[in-house]
Amino acid sequence: MSETSIFTRILNGEIPSEIVAETENAFAIRDVAPKAPVHLLVIPKTEQYRNVVELAAGDPDLLAELVGLANAVAAESGAGDFRLVFNTGPGAGQTVFHVHAHVMSGDLDEAGLGG
Ligand code: AMP
Repeated sequence: MSETSIFTRILNGEIPSEIVAETENAFAIRDVAPKAPVHLLVIPKTEQYRNVVELAAGDPDLLAELVGLANAVAAESGAGDFRLVFNTGPGAGQTVFHVHAHVMSGDLDEAGLGG
């Protein structure tokens, strides 16, 4: 990868953002532009996978670790149930090509994300 991703720069402390939870190979931050009452991002510490398809093919255990971390941060937020979204490709709204999952919970109807 030619350029260090924004999430790696956050992990390295080069860009300010609170790491709200982490595991050996993944970490979670609050999305800077939340679209739901709870909107967190769970991110592998490696930036070698650009999207969830590459991650699933290359390291399924790391994908499972991400899902587990998503469950933990959703539980800690008090919301319990959550939506897990991997935007995959620019046409689907992906803007950062270091795989990450959006963890969204709270009143998703109120946030315009019902259905
Ligand atoms: P995506 O569009 O699926 O690639 O998601 C990228 C997400 O990263 C967006 O929801 C952005 O709001 C979020 N984001 C971008 N920069 C930061 C940052 N410095 N701290 C936290 N979240 C960020």
